[in-house]
Amino acid sequence: MKIPFSLPVIDQDVIDEMNDTLINTGWLTSGPKVIALEKEIQKLTDTDTVICVNSWTSGAMLTLRWFGVGAGDEVIIPSYTYSATALAVLNMGATPVMVDVKDDFTIDPENIKKAITEKTKAIFPVDMAGWPCDYDSIMELVSSDEVKAKFNVQGKQQEKLNRILVMADAAHSIGAHSYGKPVGRLADITVFSLHSVKNITTGEGGAICLNLPESFDHTEEYTYLKALSLNGQNKSAFEKNQPGAWKYDIIDQGLKVNLPDICASVGLAQIKKYKSELLPERKSIFQYYDRFFKEKNWALLPPSINESKESSYHLYLLRISGISETQRDEMIHYISTNGVGVNVHYIPMPMLTLFKNLGYQIADYPNTYKLYANEISLPVYNNLSEVELKMVCAMVEEAYNKVVAK
Ligand SMILES: *Cc1c(COP(=O)(O)O)cnc(C)c1O
Repeated sequence: MKIPFSLPVIDQDVIDEMNDTLINTGWLTSGPKVIALEKEIQKLTDTDTVICVNSWTSGAMLTLRWFGVGAGDEVIIPSYTYSATALAVLNMGATPVMVDVKDDFTIDPENIKKAITEKTKAIFPVDMAGWPCDYDSIMELVSSDEVKAKFNVQGKQQEKLNRILVMADAAHSIGAHSYGKPVGRLADITVFSLHSVKNITTGEGGAICLNLPESFDHTEEYTYLKALSLNGQNKSAFEKNQPGAWKYDIIDQGLKVNLPDICASVGLAQIKKYKSELLPERKSIFQYYDRFFKEKNWALLPPSINESKESSYHLYLLRISGISETQRDEMIHYISTNGVGVNVHYIPMPMLTLFKNLGYQIADYPNTYKLYANEISLPVYNNLSEVELKMVCAMVEEAYNKVVAK
């Protein structure tokens, strides 16, 4: 038996929705299916404005362009995340300022506070594994007089917000909630990833969800961000294709990051049953692992639910108490050669060549290294059977016995 680490949901509903797009609508790029997917994400997040794009990375870049962030500006991010969080910032010419995380893998608001300077324009908290960050503390911090006094206003969006922008990296956390609010309503802007390995996927894709203060008109920002996602063009090809609607304008310098309908179809079929079926299935996988590993005194369980927060059950970040990075690597080697796909989320950015060359050093992020060194991510996806879950658990235990307790 071979168990892959990750598998997307491709079922009859997905095939039917895709067939409908190909056969009935005759339209491949951004059109009615994207609009329908945006509406579904609005419902799920209890928000009124969602703009689909072709990846999380491009959604984050578009948000920075929209907020007027570029050379000379700083964006605070956690040191423990996938590199895209930093690359979106670097690609817009700004500087990612990394800060260390807490034991629940999320950015530490105390460290954010210390990292804020007059150049700080935005903060990208990352909901690691689907576990929402401490948004209440972060929003309180950026709204405090002391921090607002440092903010250097440049351009019309910064003028309207008049403080640091909080943009959630919710690549993992669609469907999670915190203190009664769904992810999407916890930060000013939330960007989801719809990449193949995420809870809902369009193959490649992303979605920007607005939750801005009243100084912004969401309808206006929707229209503007849509244009920005289409090279700054104020009409999509679909809109231009309507009789007599050929005239358009390029209103600003945008990016070309729109999501095609052909991709949106896949996510549309999935999201319709996400809350009722797909998410509860992921939760039951977490519960299976929790039941098994809580009996092992060498296992450290990841956070997934408490009185105030519930995860989207994206990644099961198991940690093995007291082992070294080498022992962890040996355990992974044992588990993988025995047919179970496991992974590590993530190699901390300061350990990767690009970031080392830019001067980041892992020694500055001790908690990130501590969490990484003994972490093993277990498979979590829809249709993972009980027999397979049992085998994953057995393999991890066997690996522990062979490598550590030998
Ligand atoms: C997947 C991921 C991204 C990037 O998403 P893309 O849609 O591939 O651009 C960003 N941040 C985190 C934490 C991710 O896991």
